[in-house]
This record gives sequence, C-alpha cells and structure tokens, in this order.
Amino acid sequence: MTIKSLSVMPELFLPCTYEFDVSLASRSYYGIGGRARFLAHPGSPAELADLLLWNKEYQLPLAIMGKGSNILFSDSLFPGIVISLDRMQRMFWISDDELWCEAGADNTLIAEELLKSGRGGGAWLYRLPGQIGSTVRMNARCFGGEISAVTRGIQTMTIEGRLQWQTPDEVFHGYKQTSLMDNPEIVVAVLLHFPETGAQEEIKYTMDGYLEERTKSIISIFPAAVRPLRTTMMPVVQAALFLRNSVLKAVVKGELWSASTMPTLFSTKVGQPHQMCLDLPHR
Ligand SMILES: Cc1cc2nc3c(=O)[nH]c(=O)nc-3n(C[C@H](O)[C@H](O)[C@H](O)COP(=O)(O)OP(=O)(O)OC[C@H]3O[C@@H](n4cnc5c(N)ncnc54)[C@H](O)[C@@H]3O)c2cc1C
Repeated sequence: MTIKSLSVMPELFLPCTYEFDVSLASRSYYGIGGRARFLAHPGSPAELADLLLWNKEYQLPLAIMGKGSNILFSDSLFPGIVISLDRMQRMFWISDDELWCEAGADNTLIAEELLKSGRGGGAWLYRLPGQIGSTVRMNARCFGGEISAVTRGIQTMTIEGRLQWQTPDEVFHGYKQTSLMDNPEIVVAVLLHFPETGAQEEIKYTMDGYLEERTKSIISIFPAAVRPLRTTMMPVVQAALFLRNSVLKAVVKGELWSASTMPTLFSTKVGQPHQMCLDLPHR
C-alpha cells in the first residue's frame, strides 16, 4: 500500500496504518468525492478494535468503505476517519465446505478460490464489484445467487470495538435489507458455506458467462460517464440512474449534497448513509 508523502504532518496519530488528507475520489468506483482527514487501514480485528477504542477518546466522525462501488462521496471535506478493510482480505477453509473470509476479501477472489477448490454455488460472485463485508451488509444478489443463501455466520464489531457473532436470520431481512444497514456495526469476517462440488471446467464456463454479461451491461460504462461530474451535479446522476430503471434499479437514498454526506457513518456528528443499489437483471 502506498502511504502518501505529505508536507504537513497530521496532529493525531492513529493506532494502525493510515493515510491522511486523502482524496476519496481517487478511491471510489465513481471517481467522485472530496478529501478525508484520515483513511485508516487496520490489518486485523485487533487493530480495528484498537482504532475504535482510540476514537472513543477523540470522537472523530467515522465511516466505513469497501471498494466504493455503492457509495457516492460528497465533495466536502470529511473531517474524520474513513475505515478501509483492504488489509483484511485473508480467507481459508475451516472445513471441506466452509470458507472463512475476512471482510475486505474481494468477491471475485472468493469466486476464484471456489473455482480452484472445485466448489459450486458461488460463481455469481465473479466480477460482482465489491468486498464480501459490504456485500453481506447489502445482501447483494445477482445471476440467481444471493449472499444470504451462502452465509453461515457473520462476525461484526460494534463501534465500541466488541466482536459479535451473528446468524443469517439475525442479519438478512430481504434483498438489500439487513440489520447491518440500520446498526452501526462493522462486518469483520463472514463464514460462507458451499456444500456443492462442481467440475472446474463447468464453474469456469459459468464464470466466463457472467463476466460476458457484465461486460455487455451498460452500467459497465457508467463510471466513465460519471467521473467528470461533481457532487453538485448529483441530481443528474440520480435522474440518469432512475431513467435506467428498465435495465437496472438504482436508488439513491438521502440528502446527497449536504456538507455531511458520507457512506455509513458511525458517529452522531454526521448524517445518514448515502448509497446506491445497483442491480443487474437477475436470471
Ligand atoms: C458495475 C456495478 C455492478 C453491480 N452489480 C450488482 C449486482 O448485480 N447485484 C448487486 O446486488 N449489487 C451490484 N452492485 C453493487 C455492489 O456491487 C454491491 O453493493 C457491493 O456489495 C458493494 O461493495 P463495495 O465493497 O464496493 O461496497 P461500498 O460501496 O464501499 O460500500 C457499500 C456500503 O457498505 C458499507 N460497508 C462497506 N464495508 C463494510 C463493512 N465491512 N461492514 C459494514 N458496512 C460496510 C459502506 O459504508 C456502504 O454503506 C454493482 C455495482 C456496480 C458498480
């Protein structure tokens, strides 16, 4: 990871790897957003807990991002800490059919791990933009698969740094509806269950088909169209998304252009989540 070299030293030192004065536009899928005071990269649940405990004293606004494919950042400065779990990407099999994934693991890497291990039931994750933690939080779905259907359990961390184990029944309430969307909890890891075995050629064939579908999809070109726009033009983006309703459903929630716009925010100092729900047509 590249840590920016800056001429100005931060006045606070976070208890994990971090960057400061970071352009969020440079980190988000849509290439939109202002600067964040800190972007923290905890490398383990323990480091994440340390950061959250540290922040109990400093009370900075907190936000969490995955790959930024379902977030629109405001152009305003975010005066707190954006947490990225991009250093928490470990995954390993804890039994023949149960895969433990840290929340920062990329959906595509999980699909590739399943291919390597000859496990079916997860090819639909291939090229679904995002990390598994956010994918669980959103209960993402595509090509007939839904993350709730392959999840055995979810490890979350409260804003106070306490680890919790949650069952799928507690978390999933429907497509793009989870308890995590209302609660300030961070998904730290997910236990996925893939009981089906499959021939690698068949799994690969299915994955290639999904890739082709995604490549053809008009939303693949969407970021290029949006990048030149700033958040002041977000109504245009919003309208464009709604116009595409016949192909994909796009919902932008909340007040997009207020100074406090950020994704899931865990502090009382800031506003509501702003996220879009993008769906490819389902099979
Ligand atoms: C081209 C394109 C195609 C897409 N196709 C589909 C599709 O077919 N089906 C579908 O369901 N979705 C689709 N999406 C949406 C997107 O893939 C999913 O919503 C994905 O889960 C978002 O992952 P992310 O890592 O980019 O999350 P982000 O956009 O970074 O974050 C999404 C939300 O999750 C929160 N979050 C992030 N990490 C965590 C965590 N560890 N714990 C708690 N909260 C967290 C963020 O604060 C934010 O509110 C598509 C998006 C794009 C851009």
